[in-house]
Amino acid sequence: MNVHDSMVVRYSADLENETFAMYLKPDTEEGVKEVNFEGVLAHWFEYVASWNVLYDIEELDVKTFTSYFKKVLLEGKSDGSAAVKFQGEFIAAADWVSDSAKREELFHRTPGYISIQDVYWLACCDDYCQFLRYVDDINDLDELGCQEELLQEYAQRKDSHPLDFVRKYLHRDWDVRGYLFKCMHCGKYHLWVDVD
Ligand SMILES: [Zn+2]
Repeated sequence: MNVHDSMVVRYSADLENETFAMYLKPDTEEGVKEVNFEGVLAHWFEYVASWNVLYDIEELDVKTFTSYFKKVLLEGKSDGSAAVKFQGEFIAAADWVSDSAKREELFHRTPGYISIQDVYWLACCDDYCQFLRYVDDINDLDELGCQEELLQEYAQRKDSHPLDFVRKYLHRDWDVRGYLFKCMHCGKYHLWVDVD
């Protein structure tokens, strides 16, 4: 559906279920159309007002979103009363890679992900991995088909949490979170875990 020039009648976000619905009235047709998005972690509008028409909807990954809206995320409300505690701003530590230009880029120009503790970035094949997504539940790793390998490799890392702990608590309802990375060279997945 072409959303350009549609009027936004209403919208609703269900952040628990990561869904977002927009109800649009196209300028060319009668009636209201519903547009649904899944996997929505955050949303942002520019110029919301009654009778406004929509210019465009853009979907962004977490990394792009946090870098675009860093200022908003960091400052919160303009009166400063509700500054958002936001740790996605920079990367605190990372695996070693030999290329100093890559290290420079990672630490100074790459926005982090939003983590419980300091952001830690994984490397593979002497290069930084791509951050793929958050892992709220260990069972979400099943679809990758390499859960055991991923966990064993994680356990070898310095400062990793014991696997018994990860297996027991990397589930929804616990303040344990996984971060899934992928190597851009060999395609392997890598896991990092932190705890509140
Ligand atoms: Zn690799």
